[in-house]
Amino acid sequence: MKSLQRRAVVLAAVVISAIWLAGWACHLLIDSRGLSRDSIMLSGLRADRADALAAEEAAAPVAPDFSQTAPAPAPAPEPMQATPAQASADPSPQTPAPVPAGPTVRRMWMRVTAYCSCAKCCGRWARLGRTASGAPIASNGGQFVAADTHVLSFGTRVRVPGYASGQWVPVLDRGGRIRGNALDLFMPSHAQAKRWGVKWLWVEVQEPGPSDR
Ligand SMILES: [Zn+2]
Repeated sequence: MKSLQRRAVVLAAVVISAIWLAGWACHLLIDSRGLSRDSIMLSGLRADRADALAAEEAAAPVAPDFSQTAPAPAPAPEPMQATPAQASADPSPQTPAPVPAGPTVRRMWMRVTAYCSCAKCCGRWARLGRTASGAPIASNGGQFVAADTHVLSFGTRVRVPGYASGQWVPVLDRGGRIRGNALDLFMPSHAQAKRWGVKWLWVEVQEPGPSDR
């Protein structure tokens, strides 16, 4: 038994040294080839060297082929690296992103009037039952406003003291009389619109976010 073990150890040592020697020999060979290539390069035949380098590079990927099961962990780190890369790349687009996170609200001093869907208020548009944005007048429970869309585009939300219980309402309509810092509140009846009259008020304005468009 002992002799058998010893024989095995010796055999292993021989095999290992043989492999090492072979590797060393190959290394020497490559080195000598490299030197010869260098001399060729010095003599001006750079193309040859480039070809040789290409050949070396082509030969290099042979090594991973020995362990075809091994490459499995190799691609795994790539997504791992990709996710932190994306995470690190994301902050730059995320810098403008805070806009939807906290919509900017500003206040505007506005001339606020009121209207309804009658012919007196809407003229020839009265029968359409639709706002200039295309939304029906029943939108948002009939609580919306008309604005100068050069100042406040459709989809902008406003909060007008004394209208819609102080809730945010959308800009869905516009009108020839509504110019500049002016709002026209939609009312369910002409009487209510008349009762509102004309008021100058601080109005809260929330520009439409990307999700509202
Ligand atoms: Zn009216």
